[in-house]
Amino acid sequence: MTDHPHIDTLVVGGGVVGMSIAYGLARSGDVVCVLDGSDDAFRASRGNFGLIWVQNKGLGRPSYARWTMQAARTWQSLATELQELTGVDVELRQPGGLSMSFDEKVLAASSEKLNALGKELGIVYPYERLDADGLRKLTPDIGPDVVGAIYCPLDGHVSPLRTLRALVQGFRARGGQLVSGVNVDRVERRGGEFHVHAGNKVYTAGRVVLAAGLANRELAPQVGLKAPIRPVRGQLLVSERVQPFLHYPCHYVRQTGEGVVQIGDSKEEVGMDDSTTLGELARIAARATRTFPMLANVNVVRTWGALRVMSPDGYPIYQASTECPGAFVVTCHSGITLAPAHAGPLVDWMRTGTEPAEIRGFKAERFDVQTN
Ligand SMILES: Cc1cc2nc3c(=O)[nH]c(=O)nc-3n(C[C@H](O)[C@H](O)[C@H](O)COP(=O)(O)OP(=O)(O)OC[C@H]3O[C@@H](n4cnc5c(N)ncnc54)[C@H](O)[C@@H]3O)c2cc1C
Repeated sequence: MTDHPHIDTLVVGGGVVGMSIAYGLARSGDVVCVLDGSDDAFRASRGNFGLIWVQNKGLGRPSYARWTMQAARTWQSLATELQELTGVDVELRQPGGLSMSFDEKVLAASSEKLNALGKELGIVYPYERLDADGLRKLTPDIGPDVVGAIYCPLDGHVSPLRTLRALVQGFRARGGQLVSGVNVDRVERRGGEFHVHAGNKVYTAGRVVLAAGLANRELAPQVGLKAPIRPVRGQLLVSERVQPFLHYPCHYVRQTGEGVVQIGDSKEEVGMDDSTTLGELARIAARATRTFPMLANVNVVRTWGALRVMSPDGYPIYQASTECPGAFVVTCHSGITLAPAHAGPLVDWMRTGTEPAEIRGFKAERFDVQTN
C-alpha cells in the first residue's frame, strides 16, 4: 500500500474478534490496518445475541472457564474505556444471568456440573440454584412451568452493534486504519514480510492476524495454519419496545436497554444458509412465551438468521504459525464475551510471544486425527 508509510500489523476481518484485537494492538502502540470484507459477507458480529455468558462455559475444560471468567470480569473496564474514548455507550449490564429450567432433574444436573467445574478450578463456582419462589423475586413474570434457574453473578449483556461501533471508533481514535469492502484472497510471506492481496491491491506488514470469521478456513492454510470451522445457524426475534420487566438476561431471552425483547438460541447445521424458517422461529418463540407468558401479547418486529463460527469442539482456535512467524489465526464462537480478553491478554501474547496459560490448549492440532 502506498498511502500508508508503515504498518506493523494487518488484521484481516473487521468483526468483533478482528476489531477487539485491532483495538488492543493500536492501544499498545502498534500501527494497525484492518482489512474488512464487503457488506454481503457472513458476519456473526452483526447478528448475535449480545450475551456476556460465563455459566456452563468450560465444563471439562477449566482453562476455557478461566479465560471466560477473566474476560467477563474485565468487561466493565473495556466498556468504560471505550465510552470515554468514543462517547459510545455499549449498554453493558452485568447483573448476573439466569438459565431457566422447566425440569427439576435438568436443574439439579446443571448444579452438579457447576460444582464439578468449581472443583476442577479449585474454587467455589460462583452460582446459585434458585427454586421458582426464589426466581420469582428476581423475575416476577415467569410462567408456571418454570421450576427454577441457575443464577451466575458474572453473566451480563451488551449491545453487540454498539460494541462493534465503539471498537471501530476507539480503534480509529488510537490511530488505526480500517479499510472496508476489501476481500482478501491471498496471503503470502516473502522477504520477511506478509503480502496480503485483495483484488489488485497488496498490503504489506510484518505481522498478520487472520480474524475473518468463517473465511479463516480458506485463509489460514496459506500461512501454515488451520481453522477447521463450520457455520452453525442461529435465528433470532426482536419485539416492539415494552416496559422493563426483565432485569437479568437469560440465555435465550433478554431485554435491551431500549426495551425491546430479544429471543434466540437456535442451533442448526444448515451450511452457509443464514435465512430464517417459520418452524424454528415458532419453536424459540414458544419456549420464550412458556418462560414469560406475557410475551404472547407482544409484537415481533424483526427476525433474522446469522452463522456462528464453530470449531469441532466448540472452543476457540488461537495459534501462531511456526511455518510463517508473525502470522496468527483467531476464531471463536463467543466473540462478545471474550472481547476484553482478545483486546488484552491475546494481544500481549501476539506482541511479546508469552502465551497465556489459559489458551495453550487451543491450537488446531487438537483436531488432527491420529492414524495409528
Ligand atoms: C445467532 C448468534 C448468536 C450469538 N450469540 C452470542 C452471544 O450471546 N455472546 C457471544 O459472546 N457470542 C455470541 N455469538 C458469537 C459471536 O457473534 C461470534 O463469536 C463473533 O461475532 C465472531 O466474530 P468474528 O469477527 O470472528 O466473525 P464475523 O463477525 O463473522 O466477522 C468476520 C469478518 O471478516 C470479514 N471477512 C470475511 N472474509 C474476508 C476476507 N476474505 N477478507 C477480508 N475480510 C473478510 C467479514 O466482512 C466480517 O466482517 C453468537 C453468534 C450467532 C451467529
